Amino acid sequence: MVSLEKETLRIPSVSELMIPSEKVAHVQIGNPLEHALLVLVKSGYSAVPVLDPAYRFQGVVSKSRILEETMGIEQFEMDRLSEILVKEVMDDKVPCLQKNDTMIDALHKLIDYPFVCVTNEEGEFDGIITRRTILKQFSKHYHETFKYTMVETTV
Ligand code: AMP
Repeated sequence: MVSLEKETLRIPSVSELMIPSEKVAHVQIGNPLEHALLVLVKSGYSAVPVLDPAYRFQGVVSKSRILEETMGIEQFEMDRLSEILVKEVMDDKVPCLQKNDTMIDALHKLIDYPFVCVTNEEGEFDGIITRRTILKQFSKHYHETFKYTMVETTV
């Protein structure tokens, strides 16, 4: 039989786990898709946050959404990339977190998204928290918190 001995678990806040805004690649709401695709391809990310000129979070733009937008009837129409703006194709119905939310709040929102943006009360962009960070944190807690004890059982 395996018995689990539980120790006190301190749940970190979003501010302790997030990637701060200065390290996050982003695009502006008024950028053409051409620029957004360049940022996405160069950074290697599948999606990045979209901000307005006052650094307020507006949504998320993804490679797949951009490609979908350029798809014509028979071929990709790449010349359309300079005509369409990020704000026309971004997803603005994404959840956000605040710095004082907990890792558990983040976990719930990250079930459906690979990353979630962190904003302040004015909607200004503070950074992102990724699913990878939360999984790493859970793995760390799991190993630190639980001690396995093999106990012999007799029938
Ligand atoms: P990861 O868990 O590191 O694979 O990141 C998951 C997703 O979060 C990436 O595909 C990006 O969409 C986003 N992401 C992670 N780090 C950054 C960053 N520094 N700048 C912009 N987006 C990021």
